[in-house]
Amino acid sequence: MATIAFIGLGQMGTPMAANLLRHGHRLQVFDVNKLAIEALVAQGAAACTTPAAAAEKAEFVITMLPNGGLVRDVLLGENGVCQTLARNALVIDMSTIHPLQTDSLINDLAARGFSMMDVPVGRTSDHAKSGTLLLLAGGTPEQVTRAEPVLMAMGSELIHAGGPGMGIRVKLINNYMSIALNALSAEAAVLCEA
Ligand code: NAD
Repeated sequence: MATIAFIGLGQMGTPMAANLLRHGHRLQVFDVNKLAIEALVAQGAAACTTPAAAAEKAEFVITMLPNGGLVRDVLLGENGVCQTLARNALVIDMSTIHPLQTDSLINDLAARGFSMMDVPVGRTSDHAKSGTLLLLAGGTPEQVTRAEPVLMAMGSELIHAGGPGMGIRVKLINNYMSIALNALSAEAAVLCEA
C-alpha cells in the first residue's frame, strides 16, 4: 500500500481520498478548509498544515483543485509540494485545468527532477463516492503502470489517453462531446413535441 499526499478535498477530492483510505493506502491530506481535513482524519488520514508537509515521504501526490493557478501554487509555491517531494515520487494532477497550464507544470517539475502526469476524471461526484470515475491518463507507459493500482481505487475505467498532457486534452474533448450531445438531445425533444 502506498503513502499518498492528497491536496484539494472538495466535492470530488473528499470522496476520492476516502476511497483511497478504504483500499488501505496511507493518506496525508491538505486543504485550505480545515473542516474538509477533519472529515478525512476521522476516516484515518493524517492532517497536514501545508502542501509541503503533505508531500513529505509520499510516493504519490494527488491534486484535485479548482484551477491551474492553484495547482501551480500548491506544487511550486512557498510551502509547496516541491519543497519536500522525493525525487522518485509521482505527482498526479486530477483537476480539470487548461492544457497549456498542464504542459508548463509538467515541464517545470521535470526541470527540477520531478515526475508528473495528468489524470483528470469524467462523470460526477456520485461516481467519485462510488469509486466509478472515468480516469483519463496522460503519462508515459511507466507512469500509467505505476499509478494504476492507486487510480483504480477511485475509478472503474482507466483510459491511457497518450503521453503527459494528453489526459486533460481528451477530457476537454469528452466534455465538449457530452455538452454538444445534450444540446442536440434537447433540440430533438423539442422537435418531437412540436
Ligand atoms: P470544489 O470547489 O468542491 O473543491 C476544491 C477544493 O480545493 C476545496 O475543498 C477548496 O477548499 C480546495 N482548495 C482551494 N484552494 C486550495 C489551496 N490553495 N490549497 C489546498 N486546497 C485548496 O471542486 P470539485 O468539484 O471537487 O472539483 C475539483 C476539480 O475536479 C476541478 O478541477 C473540477 O473541474 C474537476 N471536476 C469536477 C467534477 C464535479 O462534478 N464536481 C467532475 C469532474 C471534474
